[in-house]
Amino acid sequence: MAARILDGKSLAAQVRTEVKQKVEALAQRGIRPGLAVILAGDNPASRVYVRNKVLASEQTGVRSEVYELPASISEEALVDRVLALNDDPDVHGILVQLPLPKQVDSRRVLAAVAPAKDVDGFHESNLGALLAGAPRMVPCTPAGVMRLLDHAGVPLAGAHAVVIGRSNIVGKPVSILLLQRDATVTICHSKSRDLENIARSADILVAAVGRAKLVTGRMVKPGACVIDVGVNRLSDGSLAGDVDFASAAEVAGWITPVPGGVGPMTIAMLLENCVRAAGALK
Ligand code: NAD
Repeated sequence: MAARILDGKSLAAQVRTEVKQKVEALAQRGIRPGLAVILAGDNPASRVYVRNKVLASEQTGVRSEVYELPASISEEALVDRVLALNDDPDVHGILVQLPLPKQVDSRRVLAAVAPAKDVDGFHESNLGALLAGAPRMVPCTPAGVMRLLDHAGVPLAGAHAVVIGRSNIVGKPVSILLLQRDATVTICHSKSRDLENIARSADILVAAVGRAKLVTGRMVKPGACVIDVGVNRLSDGSLAGDVDFASAAEVAGWITPVPGGVGPMTIAMLLENCVRAAGALK
């Protein structure tokens, strides 16, 4: 295996230590960062994500509270819950775990979150600020990807970055962040033609699709940096990314594992955003 592993688990532990120090500094000012998580319905993957976020919050001293709401909840009731949290002075960050039940318009609920408490960075005003080059709350997974790249010293300026996936929560914001660091960015999606050749021209290849092992070693340029955002549950219960790790690691220069790559960084960035919202970070 040629590639160096980008170890998100250990970098996330470092970030959590820094967050803990910020939380202690805030305590001197009588502030305890508080995170409110809204979990509507009983999606098992969402439950696992929320549990991991709550555990990480507790480890760093961020107070967390989970609002478990039934799958049948109305959009109105969900928006009212968000509005009440907007007004709660002990809550600095509000996270609405996606996906929401199908009768609920996610955009409307996300739009109800006060932008200053939007620790997921999904509010349109925060996405707009990112696009305008004046980021405030940056979505956690894209922020985690950038932190991993910077920590490894992967050159970004002038590099060709290919992002596979164009969602508002991963593909688009990570593309903008790469562009702002002077990468030349190509965004691919389900209708893109010739994905294989485009991917093979990437110095930095980010896969954020949700299809296990979509990216194989044949699609990786020798020495490229491969970032696997995907989390896919296989039929045997194990987790796999969007990248076929074994074949890609033979060719890549750097690669993130799944699990232990982007996932832990997402949670670390969430905690950073929460502390930022509470006033510790500029
Ligand atoms: P999404 O379903 O919103 O978007 C998927 C994107 O992939 C779409 O833009 C679509 O056009 C594109 N796509 C679909 N099939 C394709 C194909 N064959 N070729 C090229 N592009 C294709 O998904 P998302 O919310 O962006 O999440 C993507 C993946 O990342 C999922 O596996 C999700 O679980 C994972 N994820 C992980 C983290 C983390 O912290 N590690 C966070 C968020 C999402």
